[in-house]
Amino acid sequence: MTLKSFFILLGLMLALTGVIGLNAPLSDNAAARSAALIAPAGDAWRAALPADPEAATAAYMARLSPAAKARSDAYFEGGYWLQLWGFIVTVLACWAMLASGVLNRLGAALERTPLRRVRRLLLPMAFVLLLSLLSAPLAVFQDFYREHAYGLANLHFGAWIGEQLIGLAVSCVAGGLFLAAIGGLLRRAPRNWWAWGTGVSLVFLLVMLVIGPVYLAPLFNTYKPLDDGPVKSAILSMARANGVPTGNVQTMDSSKQSNRISANVSGLFGTIAISLNDNLLNRTTLPEIKGVMGHELGHYVLNHSWKLLMGFGMIMATGFLFLRWSLAASVRRWGARFGIADQPDQAALPLFAILFSAYVLVMTPLLNTQIRVVEEEADIFGLNASAEPNGFAEADLQLTEYRKSDPGALEEFFFFDHPSPRKRIFSAMRWRAEHLK
Ligand SMILES: [Zn+2]
Repeated sequence: MTLKSFFILLGLMLALTGVIGLNAPLSDNAAARSAALIAPAGDAWRAALPADPEAATAAYMARLSPAAKARSDAYFEGGYWLQLWGFIVTVLACWAMLASGVLNRLGAALERTPLRRVRRLLLPMAFVLLLSLLSAPLAVFQDFYREHAYGLANLHFGAWIGEQLIGLAVSCVAGGLFLAAIGGLLRRAPRNWWAWGTGVSLVFLLVMLVIGPVYLAPLFNTYKPLDDGPVKSAILSMARANGVPTGNVQTMDSSKQSNRISANVSGLFGTIAISLNDNLLNRTTLPEIKGVMGHELGHYVLNHSWKLLMGFGMIMATGFLFLRWSLAASVRRWGARFGIADQPDQAALPLFAILFSAYVLVMTPLLNTQIRVVEEEADIFGLNASAEPNGFAEADLQLTEYRKSDPGALEEFFFFDHPSPRKRIFSAMRWRAEHLK
């Protein structure tokens, strides 16, 4: 592939992105539509639920209309294939960069300018930028067209592109810094870079966990303190009861992007904030909010950020060990063909990305399971903290908007990073049954 054909390909991909985006079926009032697909129920219905957890769970699930279930299954199952497509697109984009030698040329061009001193940082940034632009058609299909087709998104195309550009700037800087650091380790510690690389990855994730909620999230949404009232007092009461040392409860305008209900408790070193989005405030009742916030407080109290960091660390360590072997073998096999001198050569970045994406794809079930296990813990913590099994079950029923309600066991193991709505409703009904006695 010549350099010229590479840039023609890049132009075509950007044009395709525009065509897909401009032809997306913009969703109309999705919240109203999806609400109509779940049969409403009142306190009398909930009080009359059978004690038996299986029977009570079945009663909840029966409120999901066949149309809603079919739509939710189709949306979520499509996501399985999109993971595979994401990998294929990454491989093709990286191959185009290797075959055209675009990074070698860019590196050589930078050598001739005063920018050569920061060449080792600029080249990884350019790599992240090119990879993102070449994958843009899949991104616009997956995150814009399809979200609108399923009535889950609210941004129009211009506003969506604006957010994507902010995200792209962040990932170019963060991804560029990370890849430059790994490249430095490859040069300086050719034998042990995988161990140092694991450490660097963990520090990097930690920094993102600390700065993300404070500096990155406000780039996309406006945060403001939650007004005093029954919701805030209920949340703060649960926080005090469970030793979460903060009075900071805030809300953000997520409804501009989507109708998804969401919340979190963020912060690691004394910057703790309890956040709940406006969708949760507007679409659910106080018992539901308490059920959801009990779960989020659980993540904080049970130190899930630290536990997941350790779990990811182990996956990163094996991944870098795999790369230490496979990158060396790939450079030996294809290095001459693609003008790659040795492993630390930055022209090898696309090879690195292909091998790492393959590893992540294979590890997806393990990553999902690590997260799903702590999510189940948070569910149980939340039920104990809020004592709102019906509130939690109602909120879980709403999550079927974007998560398949009742998958098979293997399917859940492979693809679910949260327990399925049916499982979560069952946990709630099991708690309820034991507390009715
Ligand atoms: Zn959670």
